[in-house]
Amino acid sequence: MALYKHGHHLTQSHHEAFDTPLTPGTLAAYPGVYRCIVCGDEIGIAKGHALPPQNHHQHAVSQGPIRWQLTVCAVQR
Ligand SMILES: [Zn+2]
Repeated sequence: MALYKHGHHLTQSHHEAFDTPLTPGTLAAYPGVYRCIVCGDEIGIAKGHALPPQNHHQHAVSQGPIRWQLTVCAVQR
C-alpha cells in the first residue's frame, strides 16, 4: 500500500481513472503510482510511459494476469 507522510499534499479525487484496471503494456494516461489489483505490487510511472509488461512480476497461475490501477496521480503544473 502506498505510503505518505504529509497528507496535506494529497487531494482526494473521484475521477474514473482510479477505477479502471489496465493491462500490462498499456500507455499510462496519467503519471503516478499504480498498484497491481491482484497482488498489491506498486510501481511509479512517468508521464508518457507504458505500464510494465506481463513479466514484470510473477503471479501464481490461480491469481491470473497482472492488472494495474492508478493509486496516486501526479499533477504537473
Ligand atoms: Zn501483481
